[in-house]
Amino acid sequence: MGKGFFQVPTALNETVKSYAPGTPEREEVLATYKSMYNSSIDVPLYINGEEIRTGDTGTMSPPHDHQHILGTYHKAEKQHIQKAIDTALEAREKWANLAWEQRAAIFLRAAELIAGPYRAKINASTMLAQSKNIFQAEIDAACEFIDFLRFNVEFMTQIYEDQPDSTSASWNRLEYRPLEGFIYAITPFNFTAIAGNLPASAALMGNVVVWKPSDSQIYSAKVIVDIFKEAGVPDGVINVVYGDPVMITDTVLASPDFSGVHFTGSTHVFKDIWAKIGTNIHNYKTYPRIVGETGGKDFIIAHPSANAKQVATGITRGAFEFQGQKCSAASRAYIPKSLWADVEKFLIEDVKSFKMGSPEDMGNFITAVIHEGSFDKLAKYIDQAKNDSGVKVIAGGNYDKSKGYFIEPTVLLAEDPKYTTMCTELFGPVVTIYVYEDDQWAETLKLVDGTSEYALTGAIFSTDRYAAAEATKALENCAGNFYINDKCTGAVVGQQPFGGARASGTNDKAGSYLNLLRWVSPRMIKETFVSPADYRYPFLGE
Ligand code: NAD
Repeated sequence: MGKGFFQVPTALNETVKSYAPGTPEREEVLATYKSMYNSSIDVPLYINGEEIRTGDTGTMSPPHDHQHILGTYHKAEKQHIQKAIDTALEAREKWANLAWEQRAAIFLRAAELIAGPYRAKINASTMLAQSKNIFQAEIDAACEFIDFLRFNVEFMTQIYEDQPDSTSASWNRLEYRPLEGFIYAITPFNFTAIAGNLPASAALMGNVVVWKPSDSQIYSAKVIVDIFKEAGVPDGVINVVYGDPVMITDTVLASPDFSGVHFTGSTHVFKDIWAKIGTNIHNYKTYPRIVGETGGKDFIIAHPSANAKQVATGITRGAFEFQGQKCSAASRAYIPKSLWADVEKFLIEDVKSFKMGSPEDMGNFITAVIHEGSFDKLAKYIDQAKNDSGVKVIAGGNYDKSKGYFIEPTVLLAEDPKYTTMCTELFGPVVTIYVYEDDQWAETLKLVDGTSEYALTGAIFSTDRYAAAEATKALENCAGNFYINDKCTGAVVGQQPFGGARASGTNDKAGSYLNLLRWVSPRMIKETFVSPADYRYPFLGE
């Protein structure tokens, strides 16, 4: 320890592979997909490096092929959660005191394992577990996850380098120690990268973790567990549990050593967790850090000066990639009357050209939504739109769950800008359009700002610089990630730190040093070289 000021490898974004016909990566991922599809796995809890099989199991199936079983996973009981907490706390001293470069090396190694030997496996598992097409799997499970791991190592060193001034008489040193206790990571189904990053970022900063993945992502989470193990994360540092989310969360939050939650998921679940933390506040040894990235009702607004084809493409990609199941997905769009005929034509052409089906067929742009609950909810909103006056289904509108949970990408046109699907997060391939009068630009900006409780992402399309500037100011509180002339999805680690405010979360910006700061507690050390030996100051002199 302490034998050099080490420089970490410069973090660079992982190059996205094309998977075009004839490429080796396409063949490899398809072969891996087939072999994983045709075998069955049994996923144990992972506590203190031990695989624990409780015998209380659930099954895992691809959303696009729900009668096919990919395997089983074991559900924890309360005693297992307690064991995961105890184990983490036992592992803490060694891990927190390990030199940072050793921790960095583990996670840089994990990044290389994903970039190389595990790439096809983590992508294929994400295609199977979450029904991502290969491009969506590659930008998430491989590239974004690699980027999180590499950039976080660089951000960690930036934090450590941030030191106060000193004088010749005394040396001021700021230590960034991990939090006292353990961190609880709760992850959503929709990004394999987020599932890996929430426990890994806290662990990188020297914390120990209890990690609970989403039930709908356990199949690809198992690949992450294998990668962390192979990369050398020591036993007890990241403990993985599955099962009843309420029981697990209540058990974790009851521990006096709970020191922070790293959550991504829906707003109501996060608010519930926050309330429980408040109820337990007198029991904790330290004020827990509460970090949550939650829902969105993300918008696209076009100015009359915008290019209609670009606007339509922004909506098509922003709303429908990964079936609209991105927290950043566009789900409401505001189009000026003068542009609408063209935007509508291009949009309907695009939607009609989509192929939908299994991700194994790489011609499919659209696959299934995550589970039956999501399918039923989306079908209900679509049916309601068909029956409601003042709203029209102008594309899509069909659904079928006989083989997989398939919802046709659907475009609704609403006369009322506060129609339910303009305000509520549906988390699926449904976008609602409101057409505004061209001379109502300023009023429409106010409408965008005031329509939803969320503030995650948003985009403005305009070739008029004054209009772009006006929108940037008017919409400053309603999107943590704001795009000018681009779709509102696709944030890249190291380029666009991601997160929103209002009901969308604590805006701690995953993929930046801001997030890592939440997982350290600074200690200021002042060392005086020659200590004073007389209390009297000169002004006390005769
Ligand atoms: P979800 O809230 O259903 O689940 C998230 C996690 O919380 C899962 O691990 C789940 O098991 C757990 N959970 C569920 N109910 C719980 C409870 N009562 N107590 C404790 N834990 C509980 O979310 P999801 O469906 O997996 O993901 C979709 C949601 O996540 C959307 O709202 C989306 O906008 C949001 N999201 C946000 C971001 C972001 O960066 N802002 C990123 C991805 C997803």
